[in-house]
Amino acid sequence: MNRFTFPAKFFLVSMLFAVPLSITSIQSTIDSNQQLRATHLKYIGAKNISDFLPVIVALETLRDLSVVKRFHSSPITEEKYDSAKNDVLAKLNYFIEHKLSNASQLISMELFALKRSIQVLSLSSGSEADLESAIFDKVNLIVDSAYSIQYQIANMNGLLGDIDPLANHLVVILTAELQKSFEAMGEVRAYGSYFITNKVLSSSGVELINNGQAKLKDGEGHLRDRLTGLLSSYPKINNSHIIDTTAVNHLDEIYLQIDDQILLDPDLTTPIDVFWLQSSDSINGFNQFRRGLISFLEDHYVTEEEEMQVKRSTYAFAIGGLVCVFLYLFIGFYLGVKGSLKQLSKAAVQVANGALDKPIMIKSHDELSHLAALFEAMRIQLKERQQELIETTITDALTGIRNRKYFNDSLKERFNLSRKADQTTSLLMMDIDHFKRVNDTYGHTAGDKCLQLVAQCLQDSLGRPGDVVARYGGEEFAILLPDTDEKGATIIADKICNNIRKLPIDIEGEIITITISIGISTSSLIPDCKEERLVNLADEALYKAKETGRDKWVSAHA
Ligand code: GH3
Ligand code: MG
Ligand code: MG
Repeated sequence: MNRFTFPAKFFLVSMLFAVPLSITSIQSTIDSNQQLRATHLKYIGAKNISDFLPVIVALETLRDLSVVKRFHSSPITEEKYDSAKNDVLAKLNYFIEHKLSNASQLISMELFALKRSIQVLSLSSGSEADLESAIFDKVNLIVDSAYSIQYQIANMNGLLGDIDPLANHLVVILTAELQKSFEAMGEVRAYGSYFITNKVLSSSGVELINNGQAKLKDGEGHLRDRLTGLLSSYPKINNSHIIDTTAVNHLDEIYLQIDDQILLDPDLTTPIDVFWLQSSDSINGFNQFRRGLISFLEDHYVTEEEEMQVKRSTYAFAIGGLVCVFLYLFIGFYLGVKGSLKQLSKAAVQVANGALDKPIMIKSHDELSHLAALFEAMRIQLKERQQELIETTITDALTGIRNRKYFNDSLKERFNLSRKADQTTSLLMMDIDHFKRVNDTYGHTAGDKCLQLVAQCLQDSLGRPGDVVARYGGEEFAILLPDTDEKGATIIADKICNNIRKLPIDIEGEIITITISIGISTSSLIPDCKEERLVNLADEALYKAKETGRDKWVSAHA
C-alpha cells in the first residue's frame, strides 16, 4: 500500500465502497423495476378481466335464452334471443377492439374463435328427452371457452402465479368457483323458464331442477367457506366496501324462487316474465359480487404499484443521499489531507531554504496537525541553533563582546545608514599599553583575565544601545559610535581612559592597574569618507597616542 500515492490510495478505498454500493443499487433498481412491471402487468390483467366480464354475463344470458328459444319459439323469445346474441357480439367486439391490451396471439385467436362460435351458433331441432339440457350444455361450452379466455388472461398477466395469497385466492374464486355457481344459476333460470313456458314439469324436469339446486347449494357452500377463510385472514376485504359478501345470499334467493315457483307449484302459474325477471335479478345481484371482487383486485394492484413506486423513490432518494454524503466525505477528506500535506511540504521547503521565521501551522485537528506541531518544534529549535551559531560567529570567545567580523559588518552597515541619514559616525581604536609586560609578568591566564575586565569596562563606559564595542584583535579594541561627532567621541575616549586607569585588576590577590591608548576618527571630518579611511585614521591617531606617551586619546583631526 505504501507504494501508492495518496490520490491512488483514496481512489482504491473509495472504489472499495463505491463498487459494491453501485452494484447493489443497480441490482435493486433492476429488481424493483421488474417487480413494478410485474405488478403493473397484474393490474392490466385484472382490468382485462373486468372489461371481459360483460361478455361472459351476456353470454350466460344468451345460453339461458337458448334453452327457452329452442323449445318455445315465439316472436318475443326470438327477439329476446336475437338481441341477446347481438349484445354478446357487440360486447365481444368492443372488448377486442377497445379494451384488450397486452394480449398474446393465442388469446386473440381464442377470442376470434369465441366470436365465430357465437356467430355460427344454431339450435338444431329435435325432440329427444333431456334435449333441453343438451342445448344448455351445447351453449354452455361456449360460455366455458369464455371462462377459459378469462383464465388465460389471468395466467398470462401473472395473476395465477401471484405469490400474494390474497390475490391468488381471489383469482381462483373468479376464474373457477364462480363459474360453477353461475352455471347452476343459469341452469335453474333456463330450465325453469322452459318449464313455465311449456306449462309442463316432467319427472326428468324435476330431476334437472334438483340437480341445478344441488349445484347451487354446493357452490354456495364452497364460496362461503372460502370467503370465511379469506375474511378472517384479510379483514381488509370486509373493510374495502367494494365487495358485497352478502351477495352470496342471491344463490339462496334463486334456490327458494325455484322451490316456490317451479317445484312447489306444479301448475306453474308464475308468469314467465316474472320468473325470468326475478331469477335474472338474483343473477345480476350475484354478478355485483363478481364485479366487486374484480374491482377489489384492480384496487389491490394499483395500491401495490403505488406503494412500490413510493418505496422505489424512497430507495432512490436514500441511495442518492448516501452517494452525496459519500462524495462530500470523500472530497472533504481528500482535500483536507491534500491541503495539509501541501502546507507541510511548503513549510518543509521553507525550512530547507533556511527561512525559519514563519511559524508552521495547518488548519486541521488530525494526525497531520500533530506532525505540523512537531515540524514547528523542529523549526523553533533550528531557529535557536541558528541564533546561537550567529551569536558564536559574531562574539569574541575570550571576552564575550562582539568580534572583529561583527565590527567590520557593523561598520559597513552603519556607514550606509549614516550616509542616508546624513549622520556623523566616530570610531575609537584602542590598544592596551604595555600589555606584553602583563603577560610576561603574570602569565597569559592573567593577561586573558585582564582582557576580559577591560572589555567589560569598555562596555560599561558606553551609554547608547547603538554603540558597538568589539575586540579588534589581541589587546586591541574598537568602538563604533553612531550619530556621534568628534567632541562626543573625545568625551567617551576620556571616560574610557579614566575608567581603565581606575580599573582594579586582581591577579591572585595582587591588584594591578593598566592604561589604554585611543585613536579617534570622525566621518564628518573626513572628505568623501569611506570606512577604511575612518579605520586607518583612527589607527594612525592611536599610534600617535602611543608615541606621545600612552594612557591618552588622540584625535585624527586635531
Ligand atoms: P604597546 O604599549 O606598544 O602596545 O606595548 P604592548 O606590549 O602592548 O604591545 P605589543 O604589540 O608588543 O604586545 C602585545 C601583546 O599582547 C603581545 C601578546 O602577548 C599580547 N596578547 C595579544 N593577544 C593576547 C591574548 O589573547 N591573551 C593574552 N594573554 N595576551 C595577548
Ligand atoms: Mg597591540
Ligand atoms: Mg599594546
